[in-house]
Amino acid sequence: MIKNETSCIRVSDTGICPKCKSKEIIKNGFTKNKKQQFVCNSCKSRFIDFYSYKACNTWVNKRIIQFTKEGLGIRSTARILKISTTTLLKRIIAIAKKIPNQIIYKNKIYEVDEMRTFIKNKEKPIWIVYALERKTRQVVNFTIGKRTKRTLQYVTNTLLLSNPKRIFTDKLIHYKSLLNETIHNTKPFGTNHIERKNLSLRTHLKRLNRKTICYSKSFIILQCILRIYFWG
Ligand SMILES: [Zn+2]
Repeated sequence: MIKNETSCIRVSDTGICPKCKSKEIIKNGFTKNKKQQFVCNSCKSRFIDFYSYKACNTWVNKRIIQFTKEGLGIRSTARILKISTTTLLKRIIAIAKKIPNQIIYKNKIYEVDEMRTFIKNKEKPIWIVYALERKTRQVVNFTIGKRTKRTLQYVTNTLLLSNPKRIFTDKLIHYKSLLNETIHNTKPFGTNHIERKNLSLRTHLKRLNRKTICYSKSFIILQCILRIYFWG
Protein backbone atom coordinates (compact mmCIF):
# COMPACT_ATOMS: atom_id res chain seq x y z
CA MET A 1 0.00 0.00 0.00
CA ILE A 2 2.71 2.44 1.04
CA LYS A 3 4.80 1.54 -1.98
CA ASN A 4 2.20 2.86 -4.38
CA GLU A 5 2.60 6.33 -3.01
CA THR A 6 5.75 7.63 -4.68
CA SER A 7 6.24 10.46 -2.21
CA CYS A 8 6.04 8.03 0.62
CA ILE A 9 8.66 5.35 0.27
CA ARG A 10 10.51 3.83 3.15
CA VAL A 11 14.28 3.84 3.22
CA SER A 12 14.37 0.07 3.35
CA ASP A 13 12.13 -0.14 0.28
CA THR A 14 14.42 1.98 -1.89
CA GLY A 15 17.87 1.81 -0.36
CA ILE A 16 18.29 5.45 -1.30
CA CYS A 17 19.46 8.19 1.03
CA PRO A 18 16.61 10.65 1.56
CA LYS A 19 19.04 13.56 1.79
CA CYS A 20 21.53 13.13 -1.02
CA LYS A 21 19.82 10.33 -2.99
CA SER A 22 22.95 8.22 -2.85
CA LYS A 23 22.56 4.48 -2.88
CA GLU A 24 25.36 4.01 -0.41
CA ILE A 25 23.36 3.53 2.73
CA ILE A 26 24.05 0.87 5.29
CA LYS A 27 22.16 -0.42 8.28
CA ASN A 28 23.37 1.10 11.48
CA GLY A 29 21.84 -0.47 14.56
CA PHE A 30 18.48 0.19 16.16
CA THR A 31 16.95 3.04 18.05
CA LYS A 32 15.57 2.67 21.57
CA ASN A 33 12.20 1.99 20.00
CA LYS A 34 13.73 -0.80 17.96
CA LYS A 35 13.53 1.01 14.68
CA GLN A 36 16.18 0.16 12.12
CA GLN A 37 18.66 2.98 11.70
CA PHE A 38 20.64 3.74 8.58
CA VAL A 39 23.67 5.82 7.81
CA CYS A 40 24.59 7.23 4.43
CA ASN A 41 28.20 6.72 3.36
CA SER A 42 28.04 9.70 1.02
CA CYS A 43 26.62 12.48 3.15
CA LYS A 44 27.04 10.77 6.55
CA SER A 45 23.48 11.54 7.58
CA ARG A 46 21.63 9.12 9.79
CA PHE A 47 17.96 8.28 9.64
CA ILE A 48 15.51 5.65 10.76
CA ASP A 49 13.68 3.26 8.54
CA PHE A 50 10.50 5.13 8.18
CA TYR A 51 8.97 7.37 5.64
CA SER A 52 11.86 9.33 4.31
CA TYR A 53 10.02 12.40 3.13
CA LYS A 54 8.14 15.00 5.06
CA ALA A 55 5.33 14.90 2.53
CA CYS A 56 4.59 11.49 3.85
CA ASN A 57 3.40 12.77 7.20
CA THR A 58 0.70 14.69 5.40
CA TRP A 59 -0.13 11.59 3.45
CA VAL A 60 -0.31 9.45 6.58
CA ASN A 61 -2.47 12.03 8.35
CA LYS A 62 -4.84 12.09 5.41
CA ARG A 63 -5.16 8.32 5.62
CA ILE A 64 -5.72 8.45 9.37
CA ILE A 65 -8.57 10.89 8.80
CA GLN A 66 -9.96 8.77 5.98
CA PHE A 67 -9.81 5.51 7.93
CA THR A 68 -11.26 7.09 11.05
CA LYS A 69 -14.19 8.39 9.05
CA GLU A 70 -14.71 4.88 7.72
CA GLY A 71 -14.86 3.64 11.28
CA LEU A 72 -11.70 1.58 11.08
CA GLY A 73 -10.23 0.65 14.46
CA ILE A 74 -6.93 1.75 15.95
CA ARG A 75 -5.15 -1.56 15.43
CA SER A 76 -6.21 -1.95 11.81
CA THR A 77 -5.29 1.62 10.96
CA ALA A 78 -1.86 1.24 12.54
CA ARG A 79 -1.28 -2.02 10.72
CA ILE A 80 -2.22 -0.67 7.30
CA LEU A 81 -0.14 2.46 7.70
CA LYS A 82 2.80 0.53 9.17
CA ILE A 83 3.00 2.70 12.24
CA SER A 84 2.82 1.71 15.89
CA THR A 85 -0.40 2.18 17.84
CA THR A 86 1.46 4.61 20.08
CA THR A 87 2.43 6.72 17.08
CA LEU A 88 -1.09 6.49 15.73
CA LEU A 89 -2.68 7.63 18.99
CA LYS A 90 -0.28 10.57 19.15
CA ARG A 91 -1.15 11.46 15.58
CA ILE A 92 -4.88 11.19 16.26
CA ILE A 93 -4.56 13.61 19.17
CA ALA A 94 -2.43 16.00 17.09
CA ILE A 95 -4.84 15.90 14.15
CA ALA A 96 -7.88 16.45 16.36
CA LYS A 97 -6.24 19.42 18.10
CA LYS A 98 -5.89 21.20 14.79
CA ILE A 99 -9.54 20.81 13.88
CA PRO A 100 -11.39 24.00 14.80
CA ASN A 101 -14.77 24.01 16.50
CA GLN A 102 -17.74 24.39 14.22
CA ILE A 103 -19.37 27.76 13.83
CA ILE A 104 -22.88 27.67 15.24
CA TYR A 105 -25.03 30.11 13.29
CA LYS A 106 -27.94 31.99 14.75
CA ASN A 107 -31.61 31.22 14.20
CA LYS A 108 -31.19 27.65 13.06
CA ILE A 109 -33.07 24.49 13.85
CA TYR A 110 -31.14 21.84 15.72
CA GLU A 111 -31.58 18.29 16.80
CA VAL A 112 -29.88 17.00 19.90
CA ASP A 113 -29.44 13.32 20.40
CA GLU A 114 -27.60 11.24 22.91
CA MET A 115 -26.04 7.84 22.57
CA ARG A 116 -25.63 5.72 25.60
CA THR A 117 -22.41 3.77 25.56
CA PHE A 118 -19.53 2.77 27.80
CA ILE A 119 -15.78 3.04 28.07
CA LYS A 120 -13.60 0.09 29.09
CA ASN A 121 -16.41 -1.99 30.46
CA LYS A 122 -20.10 -1.91 31.13
CA GLU A 123 -19.52 -0.51 34.58
CA LYS A 124 -18.56 2.82 33.13
CA PRO A 125 -21.52 4.07 31.17
CA ILE A 126 -21.13 7.30 29.26
CA TRP A 127 -23.05 9.48 26.88
CA ILE A 128 -22.10 10.85 23.53
CA VAL A 129 -24.32 13.90 23.11
CA TYR A 130 -24.37 15.61 19.77
CA ALA A 131 -26.20 18.43 18.02
CA LEU A 132 -27.12 18.38 14.38
CA GLU A 133 -28.04 21.41 12.30
CA ARG A 134 -31.20 20.41 10.57
CA LYS A 135 -30.68 21.92 7.14
CA THR A 136 -27.04 21.05 6.54
CA ARG A 137 -27.28 17.90 8.64
CA GLN A 138 -23.86 18.76 10.03
CA VAL A 139 -22.90 17.87 13.57
CA VAL A 140 -22.14 21.27 15.09
CA ASN A 141 -21.25 20.25 18.61
CA PHE A 142 -20.78 17.16 20.70
CA THR A 143 -19.49 16.04 24.03
CA ILE A 144 -18.87 12.82 25.87
CA GLY A 145 -19.38 12.44 29.57
CA LYS A 146 -21.15 10.83 32.46
CA ARG A 147 -24.79 10.06 32.05
CA THR A 148 -25.92 13.20 33.75
CA LYS A 149 -27.84 16.33 32.96
CA ARG A 150 -24.61 18.27 32.99
CA THR A 151 -23.31 16.41 29.97
CA LEU A 152 -26.45 17.29 28.03
CA GLN A 153 -26.20 20.82 29.27
CA TYR A 154 -22.79 21.31 27.72
CA VAL A 155 -24.33 20.84 24.28
CA THR A 156 -27.65 22.58 24.87
CA ASN A 157 -25.99 25.64 26.39
CA THR A 158 -23.75 26.07 23.37
CA LEU A 159 -26.80 25.93 21.13
CA LEU A 160 -28.76 28.37 23.27
CA LEU A 161 -25.99 30.93 22.84
CA SER A 162 -26.76 30.99 19.14
CA ASN A 163 -30.39 31.90 19.63
CA PRO A 164 -31.82 28.78 17.97
CA LYS A 165 -35.20 28.79 16.29
CA ARG A 166 -36.04 25.33 17.55
CA ILE A 167 -34.36 22.34 19.17
CA PHE A 168 -35.65 18.85 18.63
CA THR A 169 -34.81 16.15 21.15
CA ASP A 170 -36.16 12.83 22.27
CA LYS A 171 -38.41 12.63 25.29
CA LEU A 172 -35.61 12.31 27.83
CA ILE A 173 -36.76 14.11 30.96
CA HIS A 174 -33.54 16.15 31.46
CA TYR A 175 -34.18 18.24 28.39
CA LYS A 176 -37.30 19.77 29.87
CA SER A 177 -35.34 21.68 32.45
CA LEU A 178 -32.57 22.60 30.04
CA LEU A 179 -34.63 23.99 27.19
CA ASN A 180 -37.38 26.54 27.16
CA GLU A 181 -40.62 25.01 25.93
CA THR A 182 -41.07 27.73 23.31
CA ILE A 183 -38.16 26.34 21.32
CA HIS A 184 -38.10 22.78 22.57
CA ASN A 185 -39.82 20.12 20.49
CA THR A 186 -40.00 16.42 21.23
CA LYS A 187 -42.43 15.49 18.51
CA PRO A 188 -41.26 13.09 15.80
CA PHE A 189 -39.57 14.99 12.98
CA GLY A 190 -41.41 16.22 9.98
CA THR A 191 -38.86 15.23 7.40
CA ASN A 192 -37.78 11.72 6.66
CA HIS A 193 -34.24 12.39 5.56
CA ILE A 194 -33.27 13.88 8.90
CA GLU A 195 -34.47 10.80 10.65
CA ARG A 196 -32.49 8.73 8.23
CA LYS A 197 -29.38 10.82 8.73
CA ASN A 198 -29.78 10.48 12.44
CA LEU A 199 -30.17 6.78 12.12
CA SER A 200 -27.08 6.36 9.98
CA LEU A 201 -25.14 8.58 12.30
CA ARG A 202 -26.19 6.49 15.25
CA THR A 203 -25.33 3.29 13.45
CA HIS A 204 -21.98 4.65 12.41
CA LEU A 205 -21.19 6.01 15.84
CA LYS A 206 -22.06 2.72 17.40
CA ARG A 207 -19.74 0.89 15.06
CA LEU A 208 -17.03 3.48 15.53
CA ASN A 209 -17.50 3.21 19.22
CA ARG A 210 -17.32 -0.52 19.40
CA LYS A 211 -14.19 -0.60 17.31
CA THR A 212 -12.34 2.19 19.01
CA ILE A 213 -13.25 2.06 22.65
CA CYS A 214 -11.82 -1.35 23.31
CA TYR A 215 -8.43 -0.13 22.19
CA SER A 216 -8.40 3.48 23.18
CA LYS A 217 -9.92 3.03 26.60
CA SER A 218 -9.90 6.73 27.15
CA PHE A 219 -12.15 9.72 26.95
CA ILE A 220 -9.50 11.75 25.20
CA ILE A 221 -8.94 9.32 22.37
CA LEU A 222 -12.65 8.85 21.83
CA GLN A 223 -13.12 12.60 21.82
CA CYS A 224 -10.35 13.02 19.25
CA ILE A 225 -11.74 10.25 17.09
CA LEU A 226 -15.19 11.81 17.12
CA ARG A 227 -13.72 15.20 16.22
CA ILE A 228 -11.98 13.66 13.23
CA TYR A 229 -15.08 11.66 12.36
CA PHE A 230 -17.39 14.67 12.43
CA TRP A 231 -15.15 17.47 11.24
CA GLY A 232 -11.93 16.01 9.88
ZN1 LIG B 1 23.25 10.69 1.82
